[in-house]
Amino acid sequence: MKRLLRKELLRLIVFTVLGALLGSFWNQSALGAAAVLALLLGQHLWQLQRLARWLQQPNDVPPEANTLWGEVFDGIYHYQRRQKADQQQLSQLLERIQDSSQALRDGVVMIDHNGDLEWWNHAAEKMLGLSAASDRGQPITYLLRHPQFVDYYESQQYLEPLVLPSHITEEHLLEYQITLFGKNERLLLVRDCTKMQRLERMRQDFVANVSHELRTPLTVLSGYLETFSDHAEQLPSHWQRGLTLMSEQSARMEHLVSELLTLSRLETSEFKVEAAPINVAELLAAIRLDALALSEHHQIILDTDEQLYVRGCVNEVRSAFSNLVFNAVQYTPPGSTIELHWYHNQDGAYLEVKDNGPGIDSQHLKFLTQRFYRVDDSRSSQTGGTGLGLAIVKHVMLRHQGRLHISSSARGSCFTCYFPLAQTLQRNAA
Ligand code: ADP
Repeated sequence: MKRLLRKELLRLIVFTVLGALLGSFWNQSALGAAAVLALLLGQHLWQLQRLARWLQQPNDVPPEANTLWGEVFDGIYHYQRRQKADQQQLSQLLERIQDSSQALRDGVVMIDHNGDLEWWNHAAEKMLGLSAASDRGQPITYLLRHPQFVDYYESQQYLEPLVLPSHITEEHLLEYQITLFGKNERLLLVRDCTKMQRLERMRQDFVANVSHELRTPLTVLSGYLETFSDHAEQLPSHWQRGLTLMSEQSARMEHLVSELLTLSRLETSEFKVEAAPINVAELLAAIRLDALALSEHHQIILDTDEQLYVRGCVNEVRSAFSNLVFNAVQYTPPGSTIELHWYHNQDGAYLEVKDNGPGIDSQHLKFLTQRFYRVDDSRSSQTGGTGLGLAIVKHVMLRHQGRLHISSSARGSCFTCYFPLAQTLQRNAA
């Protein structure tokens, strides 16, 4: 290109000098040079016009030229061809993505930054009753009007999916999961989870029924065992030990059944946020006293914001907090210190239950809230643990739109219950 530019410049100089020489025969060298320059300018204008005409029909082959203009025409021509090839490749890729999304059994809906429907696949058409002709460009919340969906859509908190009955066939349950992408655009995935939910429901009902059925015989057994224990001194000594073991195990089973029932209730019942606010500082003070009754050899420090209340179900919150505090007592050696901090920041309120016990190995942390998960079976059977406590805490927190976070090191563990700001209130507002 540089070489051609140099050649073009040389051409310009040579022709201008020649023009001036020619003009000098008539004593008009300036006029001669100007005439040559005008001719060259005219030639460039003509090439420019050819370029403009060709650009209007870019599919034609480029005009021929052997000056710098030839290079320009060829350069633009190759650039256009490359662009066309890239475009073709992109549209083929787009077609393939659309074809594969169309083949998905899950519904896929693309929503633009205004919240309007942009594109969807066949499955979404069937599941949501969308019609390509009339619904494109309509706001998604106009077509899916369920208040819970609208709240979910507007919250921009899409970590967890939302499950709702289908508005087309009531007996079907649909799971909605939104993902944000691009400039505030959204991808909505819709899955029919009727079968999974039915199985989950069957599992929950089974556990609830079995636990319920076990409760009556267990109460009878413990009742009789208690009566026998009252008269244990009349029994031979080898019977006494058996009786003690039977009483311990039946108490353990009662505890297990009661926790299973609590968990089933938390999983199956609809949660309605109670209007009554909870005085958490007072609740924690009561829990602290109960925990000290379990062990006099622990120090429990209370640091609470007495003005900070939380909205929710007091029984559930009590059960969650006591589980954490009692665990801290049970899983730390005598002499340990437990700290209870209740405070808030701009995001919400937090209860921290911190201990300086032996801690929990990091490999266990993500499983702790699973039902029946125990770090060390032998230690838990000594403490009478069921492995259900933290599962209960997690469910209670979820029902209060909150979260349970667990961290631990060799210097102790910290269990944090987080409540979102909307769930909290100040004492004077309560
Ligand atoms: P469990 O009924 O066995 O106490 P949880 O679900 O409450 O069941 O706790 C699960 C496991 O987490 C316990 O078995 C125990 O090993 C561990 N754990 C809970 N809290 C603590 C703590 N503060 N320090 C150490 N380990 C703990």
